[in-house]
Amino acid sequence: MKLTRKWSWLVIAVTLFSVIFATGCGSAGITSQPGGKLPAVVSGAPLTVKVLDVGQGDAILIRTNEQVVLIDTGDVPARDKLVSMLKSQGITTVDKLIITHPHADHIGGAAAVFANFTVRQVYDSGQRTTSNLYKQYLTQINKKKIPFTVVTAGTTIELGNEAVLSVLAPEQPFIGGSEPDLNNNSIVAKLVYGNFSMLMTGDAEKESEERMLKKGAASLKSTLLKSGHHGSKTSSSLPFLQAVSPEAALISLGADNEYHHPHPITLKKYNDKKMKVYRTDTDGTLTVTSDGKTYSITKER
Ligand SMILES: [Zn+2]
Repeated sequence: MKLTRKWSWLVIAVTLFSVIFATGCGSAGITSQPGGKLPAVVSGAPLTVKVLDVGQGDAILIRTNEQVVLIDTGDVPARDKLVSMLKSQGITTVDKLIITHPHADHIGGAAAVFANFTVRQVYDSGQRTTSNLYKQYLTQINKKKIPFTVVTAGTTIELGNEAVLSVLAPEQPFIGGSEPDLNNNSIVAKLVYGNFSMLMTGDAEKESEERMLKKGAASLKSTLLKSGHHGSKTSSSLPFLQAVSPEAALISLGADNEYHHPHPITLKKYNDKKMKVYRTDTDGTLTVTSDGKTYSITKER
């Protein structure tokens, strides 16, 4: 009888311990995000996203407490500026370089990045082109034996500290068929860190937006939007904005650029949707920080 009682207490104690342990580590607010299995609770270590002011082009620096990630590298004229901006952040290694598509204003600084930093891994959309910049880019990747991965919708890129990039585009077959439309097959990826998210769109245009909407509008919902194609009217279609429903748009573009980006129609749509607008041509580099719950955006000027 005595022994049985002892065992009963032991069973109760073990059960209680298991329940407390499970509550503490497993169910403490970890819930599913729409369209994914991402944890809503993260360590709270700051995630930083810098939409760098590289003139007309895109270069977006993402830092977690484990990795340095660069999405695009700006155009050739801004490459020295890009290198000095990265060096001023104390960066010597780029863990992941993601090239959304091989146009000069996204790939132009790649050679300088390879020359000045250790790049551990390159991801791109798998689109090929005949430009010298693109050839040099491939040559450098081969010469330096950098691991290289082509990504498509459904890929998840881990950024450390529970932050991920969930790739939503491109998909095969490419838009445009045998002569792919480089902009429209841009890598589009949603950066997710706890409850914070930011949609990185490269230069994806209306056709890509329509494809992503058909596949699943819910997965597009994001806290912030990196405006597609530098705020051009070819992107940011209304149904897409409806699905993303961001609180703010961040536009990367050069002052007085020859393409007249951003387009007033796009700015009006953002305004009608009560989205805040930040732009690198007037605000300089835009810095977003998040602890996975809240976020802030600061302008360089
Ligand atoms: Zn572009």
